[in-house]
Amino acid sequence: MLTSKMVKEAAFAAGADICGIGTMDRLEGVPEVFDPRKMFPNAKSMICLGFRIPRGVQRGIEEGTQFFQYPSMAYGGTNQMFGPAVLYELGRMIEDAGYEADIYRNTGARSVNSDMDGKPGQTYSPEEKAFSMENSGNGITGDRRTMPHTKPAREGNIPPDLFIHFRLCAVACGVGEIGWSKMLLTPEFGPMQRVMFMFTDAELEPDPMYDGEPLCKMCMKCARECPGGCIPTDRSKAITVNVGGKECTWGDLDVWRCNTYYTAAGKYYNPFVPAHVFDDNADFLDDKIEMTAENEVAAARALEAYTPCWVGYAMAKCGGCIRACVSMLEKNGCLKDRFVNPLRTGKAWKLDR
Ligand code: SF4
Ligand code: SF4
Repeated sequence: MLTSKMVKEAAFAAGADICGIGTMDRLEGVPEVFDPRKMFPNAKSMICLGFRIPRGVQRGIEEGTQFFQYPSMAYGGTNQMFGPAVLYELGRMIEDAGYEADIYRNTGARSVNSDMDGKPGQTYSPEEKAFSMENSGNGITGDRRTMPHTKPAREGNIPPDLFIHFRLCAVACGVGEIGWSKMLLTPEFGPMQRVMFMFTDAELEPDPMYDGEPLCKMCMKCARECPGGCIPTDRSKAITVNVGGKECTWGDLDVWRCNTYYTAAGKYYNPFVPAHVFDDNADFLDDKIEMTAENEVAAARALEAYTPCWVGYAMAKCGGCIRACVSMLEKNGCLKDRFVNPLRTGKAWKLDR
């Protein structure tokens, strides 16, 4: 008989840093466009595998001297190489035991149903579509323009391609909580991990929901260090959902703005773009204006000559919310003690412009 212990041992042996198991009914109430039961109606268990982001791949950004190791090794490498190989290995083990392993890796949110807004069937102009083909590969929130049409394959189905809500599924597997920044926080790595999933018809003993000391201290450092003002500081701008009986609350992150600013970073945090480019395009590249999908396209166009997309992933400039959070959690002793020295020893940098 396949047990949770066997699954976890296999996951860790294959290279996962975190493994949590939840029951599918913990997703009751999740909008159906994010619900993996729409993909695998007979699934009984979900398995969350977590892969650490080595803290050192953000060292160059923290110092302001090297920006490509983070997208290349952390989200690119983990999404494309390290994680899928581990998922595949675990899937083989589960299927050898006679159960189906529906493997689900992060495909960069290239779905009309991504949690950018959850609205299926968006259409885009030919110009936008062409643009997306040249520039596909937005990391955090995905390229919403790659799927201009979708239609339910059967009556009663959601329109494909289903994109699960990674963070809520991770919470449902008991690995952690969601912080004010909307990032998944775990006691092992804080916000520094990426997760992947497997859904199976095997009935596995679930882990309890995470009920340790809250990791997020609502310090708002993530919000203060975001170059685009994407995370609110006002606590009334909170979103609260219930997952498996656990209340999850986060700030109402402006996902369109984050989609732009995590690579554009703004005038004071992007050493690759001359200051005048931000000044000349203040209509859509200013952290005070409303960031719409149209503005986001215009901003990407204005910056594309300065921000080539190497290694298949756009170059993150900020990571501000992650580094601020890690630094804060380390200072407050919220993370399992892993490092001799802290991530941050001085003040965060800001360009003098
Ligand atoms: S920086 Fe502070 S408020 Fe933001 S997620 Fe981390 S602990 Fe929560
Ligand atoms: S700090 Fe960067 S990644 Fe975080 S919310 Fe702001 S723009 Fe997005």
